[in-house]
Amino acid sequence: MQTPVTDYLTEILHDCGADNPGANAAYIPELANADSDRLGVCVSTIDGVVYGAGDTDLPFSIQSISKAFVYALAIDEHGLDYVLRSVGVEPSGEAFNELSLEKGSGRPLNPMINAGALTTHSLIGGPADSPTERFEKVHRGLSAFAGRNLEVDEAVYRSELSEAYRNRAIANMLRSYDVFTVDPLQIVEGYTRQCSINVTLRDLALMGATFANGGVQPVTGEQVVAPSVVRQVLSVMMTCGMYDAAGDWMSNVGFPAKSGVAGGILGVLPGQVGIATLSPRLDEHGNSLRGVRLCDRMSRDMGMHIMEGAEPARAVVRRDRVLRSPRGGTIRVCSLQGAIQFSGAERVLRLLADDHDKHEQLVLDLRRVSSLNDVAQRMLAEGMRRFALDGIGIVLVDPERFMTDLSSAGEPTVLRDLGDLRSLARLS
Ligand code: GLU
Repeated sequence: MQTPVTDYLTEILHDCGADNPGANAAYIPELANADSDRLGVCVSTIDGVVYGAGDTDLPFSIQSISKAFVYALAIDEHGLDYVLRSVGVEPSGEAFNELSLEKGSGRPLNPMINAGALTTHSLIGGPADSPTERFEKVHRGLSAFAGRNLEVDEAVYRSELSEAYRNRAIANMLRSYDVFTVDPLQIVEGYTRQCSINVTLRDLALMGATFANGGVQPVTGEQVVAPSVVRQVLSVMMTCGMYDAAGDWMSNVGFPAKSGVAGGILGVLPGQVGIATLSPRLDEHGNSLRGVRLCDRMSRDMGMHIMEGAEPARAVVRRDRVLRSPRGGTIRVCSLQGAIQFSGAERVLRLLADDHDKHEQLVLDLRRVSSLNDVAQRMLAEGMRRFALDGIGIVLVDPERFMTDLSSAGEPTVLRDLGDLRSLARLS
């Protein structure tokens, strides 16, 4: 069977690409002259399968999309507190090339505007690093996200640098406020080179899938950045990633994204997919016009808005049975399933609390559970401890060892399988 995903992407490309309004970025000559008919979309799963339609393998400069990855690299290298001292996390509501600084601290408002991104670039490596070493770290980091060695588009680099009056002005202002202390012109050069790194839609979708996959590159298996870094970066992408259209984007499309002036858009659906679109003509905010259409369409068709709730927590209880024990009492066997988080664990505990003192034993069966996050583990352990205090014997069937810490769980009997329920009953 041919998967319908590729056919679907081809169909939306056709629908969203029918006309081609907007205009290429005019302030970088090389981008102004780029082929504005390019159009493509790629979606990468977190196990590294990439679906695409249109111009999936043509290189284009990553531009502002690099800001999200370099922010991730800076936090991974120095820790969040260190980075927050230099760059804030508040949406600016202004154009990307405004010198938007926070009153009082003088920090750039966020890492997705140029002032913040120039600063983030300056944070990579130590103060003793040369501009070349700094750029190499950036380049190595972006390549690790893509899972291959990326190249710089030298023509785009030279073209942008020849006109980078505004970024030089911003960098000089930042230096004058001591936001960074390295040479501002070297930072502009390094940052411009960072923006000139070429990617294809396939690369970009995989880079997004690395974020979606908690920082692990799906193909190479490399942990490029820690999961806590991903959480921070996606939060900032959600609120600041789409220039001054972030509010519109949040309400209409609703997944973290970052766009670039070459016409690329990167989207991330945590735990699911990385998304990449390309169409060089931009709207009045500087976002790819047909790229926004494509993302809007995918979000609606595929339920990708992150505010669309997950599966209701009630689905976590697969079966709840009461068996007779050889001693004449009863054993309650509660079988759970799926991904259990706070609301799922709360539901389980509430269910078990009902008439719990009637049973002499409680069996918690986790064989069909796919994941148990930290809070759910702690809640179930606390529930078990309380049952044990009430004199109820606890049996935990946990072949995958989801419950990593049972030290406070009232010393349950741990089994790998439920086995024959009658022999289980003899346990009591
Ligand atoms: N290199 C571009 C600049 O700094 C990136 C801007 C963008 O993609 O929004 O002006």
